[in-house]
Amino acid sequence: MLLYPEPLAALIEALRRLPGIGPKTAQRLALHLLHAPAGEAEQLARAIMEAREKIFFCSICGNLTDVEPCAFCRDESRDRSLLCVIEWPRDIMAFERTGEYKGLYHVLHGALSPMDGVGPEDLRIGELLARLRRGGVREVILATNPNVEGEATALYLAGLLKPMGLKVTRIAHGLPVGGDLEFADTATLSRSLLGRQEI
Ligand SMILES: [Zn+2]
Repeated sequence: MLLYPEPLAALIEALRRLPGIGPKTAQRLALHLLHAPAGEAEQLARAIMEAREKIFFCSICGNLTDVEPCAFCRDESRDRSLLCVIEWPRDIMAFERTGEYKGLYHVLHGALSPMDGVGPEDLRIGELLARLRRGGVREVILATNPNVEGEATALYLAGLLKPMGLKVTRIAHGLPVGGDLEFADTATLSRSLLGRQEI
């Protein structure tokens, strides 16, 4: 016998599949949604569907956007000679919070990881090379995460980009090794950006 009526069990199961949500949290969220005013649950359902329908990847940088190209790529006040290469769209927010960076971004959508079967063709590296061949970029800042996959990706990219005559830099150490950029505090990330070194 099911502990909960089927529709409630299905809701708990759907919530449990979300990252960072265990069975207890899923149960608490599901019961909250049942007790909340109908409008609240409806608003959540609508927000999920709308985000799914309206958000896509910018064709230039790979950031999440609802306009093409995205707000960063369109912003004429940003320094177009600087390109910061990151793993995920959320890393853009980490750099924006520092207030130190005024260049453009390129999102790889991951890092090289042979163990997980992620190779160069699975990342937006082809798009990066095409973008750089169009000219205008002077320095590429490799800001992949300071972990094994991120370091391997930075080295791989440096090998591709340096022969193109570009200045290639890596954000400085001082970031917690093995960590994710998104969890680095703003001051540390700022220092790491300002202290970047040519590789
Ligand atoms: Zn963009």
